[in-house]
Amino acid sequence: MGPLAHLIQSGTSSIVLYPYYGKKALIFGLSVIMIDLDHFVAYYIDTRRVGIKGLLEYHEILVKNLDNYLGLSLFHTVECYLILFCLGQIFPDIYFVLAGFLFHHLLDQIQLSLMKRPFARAFSVVEYFIRRKNYFTSIDQVLNNISKKI
Ligand SMILES: [Zn+2]
Repeated sequence: MGPLAHLIQSGTSSIVLYPYYGKKALIFGLSVIMIDLDHFVAYYIDTRRVGIKGLLEYHEILVKNLDNYLGLSLFHTVECYLILFCLGQIFPDIYFVLAGFLFHHLLDQIQLSLMKRPFARAFSVVEYFIRRKNYFTSIDQVLNNISKKI
């Protein structure tokens, strides 16, 4: 899902939650966007590059070629949610971060399902390492596969 869609979801959810949770609704709203910072990590690990323009192009190529692709987004994993849940026991405001992440992930998952690729991103780091041998996991593999088809 693109940054604009997440920006709208973040703003709308913050406005809806504000009357109930006050400023803490902003933690939720920011988390809805900040979760996607893990895409910078995946982009860097795969390409050794940084930068928003390259990341957006990278993401666009991958989204159009999700057949046989398996992605890992660290903040979109069960392990991340478990860490946030445990931290929430000590710092309860972290639950707003967890809720924002889960809300975002739910919307991502609905979109992936509509694209008929609900399992294109691993739900867990452990799952990723188990499944990855059967899938493309880098942009080079995806681009090689495209050039073979041409
Ligand atoms: Zn996302």
